[in-house]
Amino acid sequence: MHDIVKKLETLAKVERRISVKILRHLMEVERGRIHLDMGYASLFVFLTKHLKYSDGSAYRRIEAMKILRDVPDLGHRITVGAISVTVAAEISRIVKIKNIKDVEVKKALVEQFSHKNKREVEKEIARIAPREAKPEKLREINPEESTLELTINKELREKLERLKVLLSHKNPSLKMSGVLEIISDIALKQLEKRTSPKSEAASKVRSAKKEIINSHATSPEIARASNNQKRSRYIPTKTKNIIFQRANHQCEFTTQNDKRCEAKHFLEIDHKIPYSKNGSNHPQNLQLLCRQHNQRKAELELAGRP
Ligand SMILES: [Zn+2]
Repeated sequence: MHDIVKKLETLAKVERRISVKILRHLMEVERGRIHLDMGYASLFVFLTKHLKYSDGSAYRRIEAMKILRDVPDLGHRITVGAISVTVAAEISRIVKIKNIKDVEVKKALVEQFSHKNKREVEKEIARIAPREAKPEKLREINPEESTLELTINKELREKLERLKVLLSHKNPSLKMSGVLEIISDIALKQLEKRTSPKSEAASKVRSAKKEIINSHATSPEIARASNNQKRSRYIPTKTKNIIFQRANHQCEFTTQNDKRCEAKHFLEIDHKIPYSKNGSNHPQNLQLLCRQHNQRKAELELAGRP
């Protein structure tokens, strides 16, 4: 055999051993919530931003790690090349889709997928967990933005893509959300012909929004709300808008060396001094945190740490 092949075989073995080592270290980071304290909202962000993995590599490692947690024997199987990190990640996907909790079933899946080639694995996975169309989902992520998830058929996709091409002449950076907005505007104009012109209504909405932004912390309404004798956990929309604006719609968790969390989704308003400890609803006592950092803060507070 060529020397170079022997060298490669050794290196491939070392590479697999290192992959498993990385998975085990990730488990430790996850267990200690170390990534959160470093200002990363999720393990995925930590892997992509801090460790410079691609999205796909990060995803596969995190998913494989979840299986390794329950089936420690997987580590050995990866080391000897009986199963790859990619296949382990696919097992994790099956576990998620099928909502499998039983560790014995997970072990059986690992056994079932060992020593299988890629095509066999894909066939098996298609049988067990076909990639189904997701149900429609509309979710607010902050007062001004929502995510919309939907499954569309081929025809509609082609129509949308054609529209995008036509509209992109005017606006090359147009996204699908922009296409939807334009379609909505046209449809609304058609349907609301008898009511007042849309542009007028839109400019009214716009100036109202500006007012909210400009009113800032000195707004008498907010002062009234925070000085109110009757304490209430409820934060008025106006205050919420101020907090989101002030934070630039981004999690405000910042580490000691000034690394700020970059999360822009699932943001929650947090009382710096907890509401339960008499913390007020005044904007000065409020901050915007992603769900992960809000939970982490609660965890640390429970543990009696600052
Ligand atoms: Zn965060």
